[in-house]
Amino acid sequence: MSRFFSARRRTLKPYVPGEQPRDMKYVKLNTNESPFPPSEKAVKEACKAAESLELYSDPECTLLVKKLSEVYGVNRDEILFTNGSDEILNFAFAAFCDEENYAVFPDITYGFYPVFAEMNNVPYAEIPLKDDLTIDVSDYISVNKTVFIANPNAPTGIALGLDEIESIVKSNPDNAVIIDEAYVDFGAESAAGLIHKYKNLLVTQTFSKSRSMAGARLGFGLADKELIADLNTVKYSTNPYNVNKMTMAAGIGALSDEEYTRINIETVKENRAFTAAELKKLGFEMTDSSANFIFAKHPAVDGEKLYLLLKKRGVLIRHFTLDRIKDYNRITIGTKEQMQILIKNIKEILDTEV
Ligand code: PMP
Repeated sequence: MSRFFSARRRTLKPYVPGEQPRDMKYVKLNTNESPFPPSEKAVKEACKAAESLELYSDPECTLLVKKLSEVYGVNRDEILFTNGSDEILNFAFAAFCDEENYAVFPDITYGFYPVFAEMNNVPYAEIPLKDDLTIDVSDYISVNKTVFIANPNAPTGIALGLDEIESIVKSNPDNAVIIDEAYVDFGAESAAGLIHKYKNLLVTQTFSKSRSMAGARLGFGLADKELIADLNTVKYSTNPYNVNKMTMAAGIGALSDEEYTRINIETVKENRAFTAAELKKLGFEMTDSSANFIFAKHPAVDGEKLYLLLKKRGVLIRHFTLDRIKDYNRITIGTKEQMQILIKNIKEILDTEV
């Protein structure tokens, strides 16, 4: 740390993203990316857009907003696009939290939430998950704070039902409730349809997972137009050109190819069922995941040890050191072939190395 680092930032512990190693080619199952390439339409549109990079991107994302409003059946002023959904989540902490309306979220959830809270100088409280790693909905009923819930939750993959989400939104009318639906396409019910009913609901989604565009950085929020206006105030005070031209064009391409997205989602779900069944045969226990990953532990092998042994064999999964979940690993669902390699390596490890 230099002596110039602001006193305000000295205690900040930054988010630690999953490894993106360049040393060798891994079977990469550690950051919940899609194993499939983006839609050809997305690639084509992005290439075309690259030809006019001398001009700034459209800060209003006009054409992309128009396309999403048609596909999702929402009004244009109920949409905000951002640089990944990380950015809209950060904006939400900046826009809707303060000393009184501080942030609340589960103790085990997306690791960026506490960092966003710190970065925006807002207090937060972490509400423990139940012993079975599910969210106790009653903890959030009339909590009267700014609620952040990932649905499905990460890294557990466990989803709440739409009725449960609605009860949380409904019981906190004086606070914004943010539902982070990064993984919703893989098995949970979206709360997007509720934005016309509740003025305090912000639903965030991403193109990083089901639309295979993690590297493009495209996320968005859906909410009542007044919440979107608040988020725009933060956006225009930060980075008006937050979505670059190629990404914007790729987004339009991807939204023109929803059938491709649907097929990939179905394949991921099939591969998830296959992987879960194989892991169970090997003695693993796991949460009931509605996401593009499995969260599993084995009684005979320590979570970190399994992660390290697999890494040595060229298979990368994600281990978290947090005490309550250190026995587990989070395994992204890849292609069938990738999952077969994973299972084969785990079998060998269980047979010979533990
Ligand atoms: N929410 C959750 C729960 C996530 O796990 C992630 C990242 N994997 C994000 C949001 C942000 O994703 P992105 O910025 O790529 O849209």
